[in-house]
Amino acid sequence: MNMEITVLDALVSLLGEPVKVDHRGWATWYCPFHNDTGRPNFGAHIYDGYWKCFSCGEQGGSVASLSKRLGKKVSGLLPHYEIKKPEKPKINLVQEAFRLTQRNFSPQATAYLRRRGILMEFAHFMGLGYGFHEPPADLADGIIEEAKSLHLINEQGYWMWGHAILIGEPPTHPEFIQARFLSDNKKFRFLSWGEKIHPLGWWMIENFNPSLVYIVEGMFDMLALNQVFWRIGFKAVCLATGGASPSAQILEHIGILAKNRQIVLVPDQDEAGDKWTQFILLEAPKARVIAPPEGLDPDEAIAKHGVQWLKP
Ligand SMILES: [Zn+2]
Repeated sequence: MNMEITVLDALVSLLGEPVKVDHRGWATWYCPFHNDTGRPNFGAHIYDGYWKCFSCGEQGGSVASLSKRLGKKVSGLLPHYEIKKPEKPKINLVQEAFRLTQRNFSPQATAYLRRRGILMEFAHFMGLGYGFHEPPADLADGIIEEAKSLHLINEQGYWMWGHAILIGEPPTHPEFIQARFLSDNKKFRFLSWGEKIHPLGWWMIENFNPSLVYIVEGMFDMLALNQVFWRIGFKAVCLATGGASPSAQILEHIGILAKNRQIVLVPDQDEAGDKWTQFILLEAPKARVIAPPEGLDPDEAIAKHGVQWLKP
């Protein structure tokens, strides 16, 4: 039996049982520093002890600082707190269908990627998919049922991701799938399914553990930057928040990265991009901000000017 007091045990002794612990080790409570109602706003990392309230802003870097701030000691004799297994993400079965999309691209999809400067070789490396409208005849019933419940297959029996470039996070067993539609007469250019917990590209942080992390807004900017890093062997990873107003969960993850990595923000050159920068600087106050030359978007700037301007 493991008698060691874990960070989580110490947190439970100070704060009581967490409302939830996600599978990456981020635990949530109602904030002890303000009258926290509705959605719980207080989070702590169960391995490194970093804690923060996303409503009142109280924060610190360790269990010791939390204990001090609460004026409460961690109990010396702690029962070992077992994390309840998080519910299986609903998107599980659809992962099988997503894998099928990673095999073949339509000629239009190949042409679109080429136009955006993305090499097919790199598209495969990133696990990009292409959605056809028609589900394959041998697709298991369970997958069809789950896809319907996620509104991924419509009432006529067609994939909603039809005629779109797909990206999964992580690409091998996505919990989140985003589609970028290729036809312009669609109501939406983007649709997504599943739970977006991480910035797009997060799987590369876990696999490559880079000390330099770029953050951009859009999926194609993220692809363009990573492709250029990949081609020149530059040890950096680029993440996308996906849109100009990142969720609290995305911001939490950026905050965690910012503690021990250099962060570089590359905003779009518009008003939304300014707001986006302000949001992220709250989580990563030491981040550098680099504006692409000539007011271009990041992927256009790479296509036109190469990578010199990206140097931090
Ligand atoms: Zn609070």
